[in-house]
Amino acid sequence: MRIVRYPHPTLRHKSKALRRVDGELRNIVARMFDLMYETNGIGLAANQVDLPYRLFVINVTGDSGQRDQEHVFINPVVSKYGPSQEAEEGCLSFPELYAPVVRPERCTVTAYNLAGQEIQRELTGLFARAVQHENDHLEGVLFIDRLSPSALMSLKEPLGELERELEGERMRGLLPDDRQIAARLAELEMMRAE
Ligand code: ZN
Repeated sequence: MRIVRYPHPTLRHKSKALRRVDGELRNIVARMFDLMYETNGIGLAANQVDLPYRLFVINVTGDSGQRDQEHVFINPVVSKYGPSQEAEEGCLSFPELYAPVVRPERCTVTAYNLAGQEIQRELTGLFARAVQHENDHLEGVLFIDRLSPSALMSLKEPLGELERELEGERMRGLLPDDRQIAARLAELEMMRAE
């Protein structure tokens, strides 16, 4: 398992709901948390590890020692509300890139946890922001899509560099073509998603 970087096509995949929670899914989640801590993140969505599942993990402390702060959201439904707030965001699929994103301050999220139980949370602050950011991933939406034109313009160069890096991987045969990627996602969805 590895984190895919912008503009990898899986980051634009709109994930379908998962049918059930099982041992394999629990393994996937454990590996996602490990990868998230290794890369100093506070959240990670399944698309970012090249999986077409409606699932993300969050630990707003980013501290692997604080396992009680780990949250898994499966098939989440998010409703946002409250006044808009601007804050700097980054994303593990855009290493070293940060930019201000405006989002509603609060949200309610209903999702399944790893025990297969439905949970509902009222969130605010960083946790609410992280849930909205990760939930966007499941829709194929990236934080750069939510930047002001001037903020986006200021990232033009590093984004271009990421685009060239991926193109380079593709040229060296390290990345399948778009059709192969789509076929693999469709196959995985057939096995686990609705
Ligand atoms: Zn992200």
